[in-house]
Amino acid sequence: YESSGAPDYYNIDDLLTEEHLLIRQTMRDFVKREISPYIEKWAQDAHFPSEIVRKFGEVGAFGPTIPTEYGGGGLDYISYGIIMQEIERGDSGMRSTASVQGSLVMYPIYKYGSEEQRRKYLPKLASGEWLGCFGLTEPDFGSNPGGMMTNIKDMGDHYLLNGSKMWISNSPECQVAVVWAKNEEGRIKGLIVERGMEGFTTPEIHNKWSLRASCTGELVFDNVKVPKENLLPNVDGLRGPLGCLDSARYGISWGALGAAIDCYESARKYSMERIQFDKPIGGFQLTQKKLAEMLTEITKAQLMVWRLGTLMNDGKATTQQISMAKRNSVDMALHIAREARQIHGGMGITGEYPIMRHMMNLESVITYEGTHDIHLLITGADITGIPAFK
Ligand code: FAD
Repeated sequence: YESSGAPDYYNIDDLLTEEHLLIRQTMRDFVKREISPYIEKWAQDAHFPSEIVRKFGEVGAFGPTIPTEYGGGGLDYISYGIIMQEIERGDSGMRSTASVQGSLVMYPIYKYGSEEQRRKYLPKLASGEWLGCFGLTEPDFGSNPGGMMTNIKDMGDHYLLNGSKMWISNSPECQVAVVWAKNEEGRIKGLIVERGMEGFTTPEIHNKWSLRASCTGELVFDNVKVPKENLLPNVDGLRGPLGCLDSARYGISWGALGAAIDCYESARKYSMERIQFDKPIGGFQLTQKKLAEMLTEITKAQLMVWRLGTLMNDGKATTQQISMAKRNSVDMALHIAREARQIHGGMGITGEYPIMRHMMNLESVITYEGTHDIHLLITGADITGIPAFK
């Protein structure tokens, strides 16, 4: 705890193993060395540091729960959560890169892929030799991915892929894309599309005010011939992409906590150093209210994601439980970022402090992987048995 510098008001570290604590320290050191010194400039310049991909591979940030025989970490879900938390203490965009690679590219290949596909792709993705992306969202189908228009036609010896995907993290830099498309019967299928296939392009989306150090783009498929062996054989229907999203959303529930912790720590420190009316602003009741509420919310979220992690380890976590944690953590983090911004006064809007960057990043995190409102409606449907979003 001391060296990690994270608040642990309820001694939650007692619930972690020595291995968890070691992983946290390793990732903390990695982020302090490889991300924190540069992230403000990368974000200001809207620069994706492509060299981070190999470095993430070396430190084991890609696919921590994938078995070691495929290059993964063979770790439990608490370890995965801790890794996401520490990366997002650095930056949500950097965490997005790792989340997509691990949960949205490696996970479906591991879970739904053939043995040949696992052996061909997973080691290269784990090491960071290749970067992957996950294409589900389309220009006209965001919260309702089941309506997707991207489609495949069986041409005998290959599939012909047509359509487009929008808002795809990592797309401009990817070597591999896991793409969801409908077959002639209207069933959703997963395919592995590789850079270099004719008719496949990945135009970048520019001018984002959020996740500026993460690259985002489209996936455009114009009569792309995809070999039959690139179809993920062991999945059919919307439950395929949704299964990947469960894993990624679980990671986000820890990740957003990292951004919240960074904002809280910065605000706590600033409030003790900044003097107004001859005393630290941390001595005023209104600042203390902000700090006390931040720590309370962080502690509640820490307990929630830890418990969810144990359920994940036992294979018992439900989609609905994951929804609740993703929504709670991101909302909590965004609220803390806004309050921390106020504590920093004018300095809070500058790149001298991480606050504004976290806040802007979290505006994407609250929308992607299921929006704030959709997750609320998932809980509502679980309570009442009546899905209000359909
Ligand atoms: P819409 O679905 O159009 O929603 C707009 C608003 O309407 C939201 O507030 C929503 O809550 C509300 N709404 C919609 N339906 C209902 C309803 N039934 N009831 C009540 N309210 C409703 N996608 C990928 O596939 N892969 C990626 O790697 C990826 N990365 C992303 C990176 C970034 C930076 C961003 C911003 C997005 C990314 N996405 C990615 C897409 C993301 O998942 C979608 O933006 C998200 O699912 C919401 O879809 P939408 O933007 O089309 O919004």
